[in-house]
Amino acid sequence: MRAVQVATAGGDFELVEREVPQPGHWQVLVRVAACGICHSDAMAKGGLASAYPRVPGHEVAGTVEAVGTGVSQWAVGQRVGIGWFGGACFVCTPCREGDFISCVQRWVTGLTRDGGYADYVLAPADALAAVPDELSDVEAAPLMCAGVTCFHGLRESGARPGDVVGIVGLGGLGHLGVQFAAKMGFEVVAIARGAEKGDFARQLGAHHYIDSTREDVASRLTRLGGAKAVLSTVTDAAATTAVVGGLRTRGQLVVVGVPVAPMEISAPDLILSSRTVGGHASGTAKDSEDTLRFAVLTGVRPIVETTSLDQAGPAYDRMMAGQARFRIVLTT
Ligand SMILES: [Zn+2]
Ligand SMILES: [Zn+2]
Repeated sequence: MRAVQVATAGGDFELVEREVPQPGHWQVLVRVAACGICHSDAMAKGGLASAYPRVPGHEVAGTVEAVGTGVSQWAVGQRVGIGWFGGACFVCTPCREGDFISCVQRWVTGLTRDGGYADYVLAPADALAAVPDELSDVEAAPLMCAGVTCFHGLRESGARPGDVVGIVGLGGLGHLGVQFAAKMGFEVVAIARGAEKGDFARQLGAHHYIDSTREDVASRLTRLGGAKAVLSTVTDAAATTAVVGGLRTRGQLVVVGVPVAPMEISAPDLILSSRTVGGHASGTAKDSEDTLRFAVLTGVRPIVETTSLDQAGPAYDRMMAGQARFRIVLTT
């Protein structure tokens, strides 16, 4: 089979031939049809994988090719997706509390095991989501990380229908976040840089648009009544924290984008209105499955470009340069 691997920490992507792996106990072999390129693939490329060589990719859609012993819930030929969640150990304290995404093992597809930049990928049975027939593989793949991160982050935020909810950024995550937020019944405020993105944000379902290069984001959110939750999808620390003053009482900033720089937040901004700042880690395979089903129910779809597996290197470079419109999906 073909696989795109990173041979050493910091190395380039290289297309190699490998033996197709065989599923062991509790494992499923998936024939990959599509795999999205995510900003977090930089972790595999940059040296944070558990071992090298490593095949990145955690936005996988495909079909079950073979199942190992102990797997009764998946059948050959079934359409499945695999996301960031790489399975749980079921014995650590968070797992015993039913909080599988917080499993202390931190098993991550494409980081602690090989991922979906390949013709085939192995995954633990508990890391698979069923893909509804209504979604193509190319549509389903980005929902397995970008999609579930936004959908699950929003539904866990405490915001309820009718509440003002902000989405910072209109890229790979943000363009999905705006759609999900609108379909969840929030009053949606899209926040991005540049007046020209306003029409696009409204097409995605946003009720308001804030051009952060021209307007003070916090004061505009405050004039709208204050945001119960803001999902920040960007990698700019200042753009992420600029919304805190625009949260309503007990509002929450939910950080899902990953700024490299530390975030500076004023303590009075937090204390005086009992605001909170939290992170949100993707979701389990069941959360992904919920995301896919919600997308079918409501018509939420990722906007993607597709390219072939052997173009993973140039495609990754375009994504990192912010040129992807809006998610790049590798197809086999
Ligand atoms: Zn991701
Ligand atoms: Zn665990």
